[in-house]
Amino acid sequence: MNPDFLVIGAGVAGLRAAIELAQTGAVLVVAKHSLRESSSEYAQGGIAVALNDDDEVRLHEEDTLYAGDGLCNGAAVRALVEEGPAAIQELIEWGAEFDRQDGTLAFTREAAHSRNRILHARGDSTGSEIARTLHRKAASFPNISFRSYAATTDLLAGSAGGAVCGAALYDASTGQTVHVPARAVLLATGGLGRVFLNTTNPDVATGDGVAMAWRAGAQISDIEFVQFHPTALYVEGAPRFLLSEALRGEGGLLRNRAGERFMERYHSMAEMAPRDVVARAIVTEMARTASSHVLLDLTPLGEDFLHSRFPRIFQTCLEYGVNIARQPVPVRPAAHYAMGGVRTDLNGRTSVERLFAAGEVACTGVHGANRLASNSLLEGVVFGARAGRAMRRWMAAPVPEYAHTGEPPEAFHTPAGSVHEFRELAWTHCGIVRCGEGLSHAVSVLEALEKDSTGGSELTPERSEARNVHQVALLIARCALAREESRGAHFRTDFPAKRPEFQKHSVISRHSEIQYLPEEMLLAGAIE
Ligand SMILES: Cc1cc2nc3c(=O)[nH]c(=O)nc-3n(C[C@H](O)[C@H](O)[C@H](O)COP(=O)(O)OP(=O)(O)OC[C@H]3O[C@@H](n4cnc5c(N)ncnc54)[C@H](O)[C@@H]3O)c2cc1C
Repeated sequence: MNPDFLVIGAGVAGLRAAIELAQTGAVLVVAKHSLRESSSEYAQGGIAVALNDDDEVRLHEEDTLYAGDGLCNGAAVRALVEEGPAAIQELIEWGAEFDRQDGTLAFTREAAHSRNRILHARGDSTGSEIARTLHRKAASFPNISFRSYAATTDLLAGSAGGAVCGAALYDASTGQTVHVPARAVLLATGGLGRVFLNTTNPDVATGDGVAMAWRAGAQISDIEFVQFHPTALYVEGAPRFLLSEALRGEGGLLRNRAGERFMERYHSMAEMAPRDVVARAIVTEMARTASSHVLLDLTPLGEDFLHSRFPRIFQTCLEYGVNIARQPVPVRPAAHYAMGGVRTDLNGRTSVERLFAAGEVACTGVHGANRLASNSLLEGVVFGARAGRAMRRWMAAPVPEYAHTGEPPEAFHTPAGSVHEFRELAWTHCGIVRCGEGLSHAVSVLEALEKDSTGGSELTPERSEARNVHQVALLIARCALAREESRGAHFRTDFPAKRPEFQKHSVISRHSEIQYLPEEMLLAGAIE
């Protein structure tokens, strides 16, 4: 518990960073659940990389920029697509087994990709295979230690200069909170899907990294952009299990309750249109037909193919009573991915000294207003490695004297209201289709609940999560209300068009109101 570097999160980004850091000092990787419980573990469809014979890095770049709807940080996209092929080769050298056909890597297609460039593993267990590989590699370093069931509740800062010098950790085995000092801290806490009532994300995705960084004074960027996946399983009593886009890539069709295909009426690319288009089309079709869901028809693909290509999806749906080879699957959209997060440069540096972020919790601007499918696992490995390398320079600097007495930025208090209430507000008013009135309502209710907060309550992981969900929901609502346009995954009925004055990144911190920064100010180095 006395590392040089503290890595918060054991998904692909945290593990990839830890492998870099291990070359320099002692690393502690903490995870709030088991070490394998993460979005990385559940990622199905694959990892995008321009390695296929007919593909080019330039085309991957173009597709990413197109999906990002005018808001990508071009330098971040270039780093992602250019460093992607080497990052994949490295994973293969470390033992990752991607699916092959006749001995060569097998690539599939997903929405808004102009080429077949999605690598997959064990059919639909790509994230699990990459996480397994990185875990094994990280565990081979004697100076990387792991701690599971250890949730960080806050970052520690010195009274003097605001630099982060460690984190407060709730250790479930003892029920105690301990302070872990470190020379530098990486937030790799993943996404925030659990801020919404319906989500494909695992329980750990409660936006803790964004909330902790916010409390420590870091800048948060583009947080209003949340991607809603069009097709999550909709069966009563079942979780909103993801039905990968690759299913549509292989020929799956969307039908309304009358059994009619409808996507052709909404976009020329039909089922392969960008995710936000498909998600909104489904919501519109559900309203038009007064139905709680639509149907994903996979029956034309055949049982043998579905069973071998998508074994995990096949089995999971069967457990919830749906044989995907024999009957159309009831689906509806669910919160899936956060494009925004803790603002970083291309090396994971945040606006707070010694605090870094990588993976889904970070916002490099690589995804702009809408993430291209299968770019996030790649983001985790590329930017995780970059952040790890950049953090190493802090090895030469002494641990701040105040590290052992560093305190969370504010006393623990919980907002009034339940976590269910926050999640419902976020889903209803900050979801797929937004409007000014609903967003204002969400902001005022969440602010009122904050004013009614109770101080001095005992810190538990549940209370800590509730506080974070509330904080992140409020940030999303505020930033979505301020962005008076529709772009990418952010759609407002009262401002249905894109507006050039909003082709900028939102940046907010607890010390300043929302500002809008153009792309060049997000480039490497600008953060300082
Ligand atoms: C169902 C599903 C399918 C997906 N499919 C794909 C896909 O096919 N391709 C693709 O590119 N992307 C996919 N994604 C997105 C992708 O999986 C994630 O964006 C990516 O894995 C995030 O990696 P990460 O390392 O940033 O975070 P994660 O993998 O989510 O890891 C987060 C880690 O942080 C820990 N943590 C969180 N809070 C705390 C705390 N307070 N204290 C301590 N530890 C904490 C967690 O325990 C966990 O170890 C999918 C996501 C989901 C949910």
